[in-house]
Amino acid sequence: MEAQTQQPFRSLSENVGAFRLKDKTCLIPQMNRVGGLLLAGAFRSFGVNAVLMDTYDGLDLGKAFTSGKECFPCQVTTGDILLFLKKEKERLGNDFDPDRYIYFMPEAEGPCRFGMYNKYQRIVLDSFPELARLKIGSITSKNSYALDGMFDEEQTREFRKVGYFSVVVADVLDRLLWRVRPYERKKGMADEFIERASQAMADAFERCGSSKDFERILDKLAETVREGKTIIDPAIPQKPLVGIVGEIYLRTHVQANQDVIRLLEKHGAEVVNASIAEWVNYTTYDRMREAKIGLRLSVKQLRVSRIRDSLKKILSYGVELSYQHYRQDQVYKRVKPLLDLAEDHRIRHLDGILGKEKIYSFDVGTEACLSIPGILEYVHQGYNGVVNVYPFTCMPSTVTSSIIRPIMNRKKVPYLDTPYDGSFQPGREAAIRTFMYQAQQHFKRHGRNGSS
Ligand code: SF4
Repeated sequence: MEAQTQQPFRSLSENVGAFRLKDKTCLIPQMNRVGGLLLAGAFRSFGVNAVLMDTYDGLDLGKAFTSGKECFPCQVTTGDILLFLKKEKERLGNDFDPDRYIYFMPEAEGPCRFGMYNKYQRIVLDSFPELARLKIGSITSKNSYALDGMFDEEQTREFRKVGYFSVVVADVLDRLLWRVRPYERKKGMADEFIERASQAMADAFERCGSSKDFERILDKLAETVREGKTIIDPAIPQKPLVGIVGEIYLRTHVQANQDVIRLLEKHGAEVVNASIAEWVNYTTYDRMREAKIGLRLSVKQLRVSRIRDSLKKILSYGVELSYQHYRQDQVYKRVKPLLDLAEDHRIRHLDGILGKEKIYSFDVGTEACLSIPGILEYVHQGYNGVVNVYPFTCMPSTVTSSIIRPIMNRKKVPYLDTPYDGSFQPGREAAIRTFMYQAQQHFKRHGRNGSS
């Protein structure tokens, strides 16, 4: 493929947005393998040909088509889509038709740069004349990732429910892996099991998603958790518990974070990573919070139409959030009696922590709203250390680090920042080993039973 240096910018409005997925191949970037597989299964159940793209092999291409100033996830995802299309073009030859695909790249509003990835990638795709017609399907945190326009009207609401359910189930499968792998009876058992279980669960979503047969999916999940539990060797003693927070892509993307969870496990940890559902819940909660602020302002100004508008939004996002909590509780209630898996923090609770501590505010936004109180909550629950995983120069994670470091020093709980940019830092493993030594000491003194 040959790139051209001049591109028409109208493409940003015409070729990025919520496009109908019917009869298209929906290309899903792989932020997290389990989540991607399940989401693809959910899409297929609604008749969308969804393909989970391979990831990270195209990093050289991603770096070649970025300047180095972009966030690392932008480089990874740019490489993923370019390599996929290159291979697809080689595979199909003259039959390659860019109109057949929709590249799925959600966005978030500011103040950081995630909202620019799909625009930037549009410019890159447009630099290849043969890819200019390939659409980027984008949903946004501005409306809590509404899918309007991508499905038939009646399907949109249904798919949103099933899609959210797939996110929660994928979180549970990930947590199952992190819960059993440090205690596995034979090396490699847990990874092999989760790969198999994820494929089976993706099939369950494909079979039962559109009929919203959540009970059958839960039955399959319960069976999986029961089987997963048998991997644990009861003779292996309990290990220090380490919590992960940070930027959603990096902390979730195993290749981009150089498998930091496995490295922590190698040095003696049991790890719990912040979930994906937490971010989805946060966007819904935050839209509702904004609508409440809008309502207070409109009441002060006595603007009736705006009052009505704000009330409608509060109701709509309130119902959405309650539904999400209902489904999340339903999943965890089913699996927790089988195995002690960590549950998510409620966003209202995290907001309350920030309100009480007065160290940051939801008014500022970004993932720091989750990371900062999430760390404090880990400490409260008795975790023996916390790692902040993020792309080099990531704004919200740097803010998190600057606020939380002195607090963690005062609380005497081990804390480590791990920024990534694709290069290998020779001191990384030494830093993790040292951090884990501290976590072991904390564990010896306090166990895992909660402190202040
Ligand atoms: S969260 Fe960090 S990595 Fe993601 S777009 Fe914002 S600044 Fe970039």
